[in-house]
Amino acid sequence: MSNATLKELSDRLAAGACSSVELAQDYTNKINGLGKDLGCFITVDAERSLAQAKAADARRAAGNAGPLTGVPLAHKDIFCADGWLTTCGSRMLSNFVSPYDAHVVGRCNAAGMVTLGKTNMDEFAMGSSNETSFFGPVRNPWNRDTVPGGSSGGSAAAVAARLAPAATGTDTGGSIRQPAALTGICGLKPTYGLVSRYGMIAFASSLDQAGPMARSAEDLGLLLNVMAGHDPRDSTSLERPAEDYNRNLAQPLKGLRVGLPREFFADGLSADVRRAVDEAVAEYRKLGATVVDVSLPNMGLSVPVYYVLAPAEASSNLSRFDGVRYGHRAAEYTDLMDMYKRTRAEGFGAEVKRRILIGTYVLSHGYYDAYYIRAQKLRRLIARDFVEAFKQCDVIMGPTSPTTAFRLGEKSADPVQMYLSDIYTIAVNLAGLPGMSIPCGFDGGGLPVGLQIIGNYFDEARMLNVAHQYQLATDWHRRAPQGVA
Ligand code: GLN
Repeated sequence: MSNATLKELSDRLAAGACSSVELAQDYTNKINGLGKDLGCFITVDAERSLAQAKAADARRAAGNAGPLTGVPLAHKDIFCADGWLTTCGSRMLSNFVSPYDAHVVGRCNAAGMVTLGKTNMDEFAMGSSNETSFFGPVRNPWNRDTVPGGSSGGSAAAVAARLAPAATGTDTGGSIRQPAALTGICGLKPTYGLVSRYGMIAFASSLDQAGPMARSAEDLGLLLNVMAGHDPRDSTSLERPAEDYNRNLAQPLKGLRVGLPREFFADGLSADVRRAVDEAVAEYRKLGATVVDVSLPNMGLSVPVYYVLAPAEASSNLSRFDGVRYGHRAAEYTDLMDMYKRTRAEGFGAEVKRRILIGTYVLSHGYYDAYYIRAQKLRRLIARDFVEAFKQCDVIMGPTSPTTAFRLGEKSADPVQMYLSDIYTIAVNLAGLPGMSIPCGFDGGGLPVGLQIIGNYFDEARMLNVAHQYQLATDWHRRAPQGVA
């Protein structure tokens, strides 16, 4: 049963072939076994999950079930969930039980979905390997000596290991797409503003966006239908009419113009990843697409620009963790200032501190113009490159990550190497565009490769169509790690 997609589970529940309680029990058992070995979850609460499942079964029996009523999913531990420990992967929030639901969690609950637990993540979503979590690393189910990517690594590994049919994630610079690529699943970062950030613990607010992680494009659309929508509690949430993101799935791809940015295929791309992406592009040609060369001349600036802007926003957002209102507080201190200092020294890990220091520096008097303002200007140039590229093509394709999963510890001593893991994903966040990753093959060692598909603003339905047609013609997305299916 746990090998089923979200769509299949939805169909089975509708046909009465299984109950939501059975599903919740089945997944919870797996989470307590394999899930523990992989470190995927920070919190599970079987009683809570089963109570939700019972309510979903009752709702179905009463005749008012929606497509996802009774279907289980996991939430990244960055989303506040009423009554659940919500840690953001940090010691700072290791004792924080949220008194309310994030918009995304509330929407999933309202749809009747069942929360299986809260997934492990890099501390405050800062990382590309899920090694900065206070609760320990997550292991990649394809090879347990390798990382699952980050920061939504727990969600990605859980979906890949069939511990959940789908999960929520967040993507500030690649944290949905890169772990999706490294674990052989699908992940979508929507257009900025499509999904409310209310109750999603803030990292870099102008970049953060929540999105679905699942095993097929169709499943991503089903979940996005639930997650997206206007929310007056987030001032950047967009007021747009509701849409069915799966409405175009069946459209043939004849005439589709696929843009390949030459900057995506330059130095630094591993040969295995390149081969798999080339083969995926060849498949798209077979499906009727035409390929055009495009250029994103400022893409090389995206990592440096991001590492000015994201830390700047983080240093401001994370100032709220001061030991006064919630979360960790140092046990011993002399006065208020000492309490702040000790609390923050104890509560934050090394990577978070590094970001706070960089952010405070680039915002400080005398450096603000040289770094922060300049990075904002470059951000605009990067966004304009995409506007130009989309005059020539309907979607952009390339690799999601320059390499497949790397070994645990391999990059932890070298922050810049770690930061370069997001070289193909970060520009999309800076531009506010939607991007997704779908599996498109394996490297020589049997580790999954992700194909990145970038769409124009609000073009999620087209992107899902483009991914779905590929998934009808190929079976990469159905492959499971050994011993898992
Ligand atoms: N890896 C990037 C970082 O560390 C992106 C993280 C994210 O998207 N949350 O900031």
